[in-house]
Amino acid sequence: MEISRIENKLKTTGYSITSKRHIILQILALNDDKYLSAQELYQLTKDNESRIGISTIYRTLHILDKLNLLTKFSLNGAIKYQLTSLRHMNICHLICLNCDTILKVPIPDLDKLKQAIMNEYGFDITSYSLNFFGYCKKCSQEVKACSFT
Ligand SMILES: [Zn+2]
Repeated sequence: MEISRIENKLKTTGYSITSKRHIILQILALNDDKYLSAQELYQLTKDNESRIGISTIYRTLHILDKLNLLTKFSLNGAIKYQLTSLRHMNICHLICLNCDTILKVPIPDLDKLKQAIMNEYGFDITSYSLNFFGYCKKCSQEVKACSFT
């Protein structure tokens, strides 16, 4: 199970696994198909009826980030996070700057490219993220429609 793997990493690097951290990890794992901001994560923990303060969420995200367990990017001024270890390989993200939709698109040759880079530079790649930013089909049509008015 991914969460226990992450918790092991936390333990071996000297961080304790509190029940609050466990809940935050569970929510991140459950939402591994999308990116969450600290605020969205906070909202989800509240729905879960656990009393986790926003500062605990920021602290936990900071620790996970420090241990390279998070993939993040900033979208419309908000930083969004996803557990790196749960991301599927050979996938890129198409991220709409207007409606925040994130499409996962498979790239069949990504593994080959990764291998080629590792061979060429002797670099051991442990994770990566490939994000394309722009406008989804729906939003780009709306943008076009607006420019005619
Ligand atoms: Zn869109």
